Amino acid sequence: MKLNRFVFLVSLSFLFILTSCSTPVSDTMHAENTTKTAKNIIFMIGDGMSYAQIEGTENAIGKQLEMRKLPVSGTITTHSADKRITDSGAGGTALATGFKTNNGMISMKADSTAVPSILELFAEDGKQTAIVVSCGITHATPASFVAKDINRNNYEAIAKDFAESEKLNYFIGGARKHFVKREDNRNLLEEMTARGWQFFDVLEDAQFNASTNVALFMADEHPVSVIDGRSDFLAKGTAKLLETMSRQAENGFFMMVEGSQIDWAGHANDSAYLVAEMIDFDNAAKAAVDFAKKDGETLVVITADHETGGLTIINGNENDYSSVRFNFSTGNHTSVTVPVFAFGPGSENFTGVYDNTEIFYKILNASGKE
Ligand SMILES: [Zn+2]
Repeated sequence: MKLNRFVFLVSLSFLFILTSCSTPVSDTMHAENTTKTAKNIIFMIGDGMSYAQIEGTENAIGKQLEMRKLPVSGTITTHSADKRITDSGAGGTALATGFKTNNGMISMKADSTAVPSILELFAEDGKQTAIVVSCGITHATPASFVAKDINRNNYEAIAKDFAESEKLNYFIGGARKHFVKREDNRNLLEEMTARGWQFFDVLEDAQFNASTNVALFMADEHPVSVIDGRSDFLAKGTAKLLETMSRQAENGFFMMVEGSQIDWAGHANDSAYLVAEMIDFDNAAKAAVDFAKKDGETLVVITADHETGGLTIINGNENDYSSVRFNFSTGNHTSVTVPVFAFGPGSENFTGVYDNTEIFYKILNASGKE
């Protein structure tokens, strides 16, 4: 069932509750943000998520999202090298590599020079690496961390880059078909198995140990939406991999988690779809922050590649400001700024207004790498 729009009442008393419960969490969090460097990094991207997606979801569910409770926040600009409005290829590339590129390109500069991603740089330092997404693993955002391509739609070439990467230890997502039903007739899963990868379809079945790389394919194509029955693998897979890597990764780890379908809900101007995907992503954020609070050496950075849908929150009825509802202004991406939330060692560097390419350097800096 999909509602085309949410109309909900927000009472003044609820707004007071929302404001007052945002403070106590931060005090204890600040105490942990000393001058230590971050051994572990959890980088979370809500595709198509800006302020209205967050506030609209909070209105709909009547409570503050976990990401908004973090003690540090900032704002980033998202334009690409060639367009005022970015796509997820150039947006993902900016976040993953620190370089602006043209729309549609993956982990390459605008002149088509391939550049290393932050995941690859951390792998070279001996950190374990993982990606968990609610779309096909070959889609633009995850691809920006592992593959290099002038065209984000070259899914089979991107799958080959995943298969041949020596920098990725674990991934969870969809798009099995790009690994096995290929024009070149290669079976990348067989090739990966020969190189020590193990594959599972169900999170509960997956065995994680230090000697093998592990991938979970949740779908042949893209995993379905939450509303259409997708499991909570984004949060559970995040928690499972954090637990696994905290045991095994002596030099720490880098993990990227994407709430991929927030963007698709924005394209569809579908507020029920949007709220469900935002909650799913925020549950993963909670798993990440819960881990980081206990661990003390983990930086969590939550941001977005761009806004989708031109969403605003407007009055629910003519001249009645006591109720609000979603109002989408486009079926495409927009140029508006998006938020950054951070917690853990080095998180204090994520305040202010800056460009999306700076996130890359801020994370490296927090880890003591630059
Ligand atoms: Zn999009």
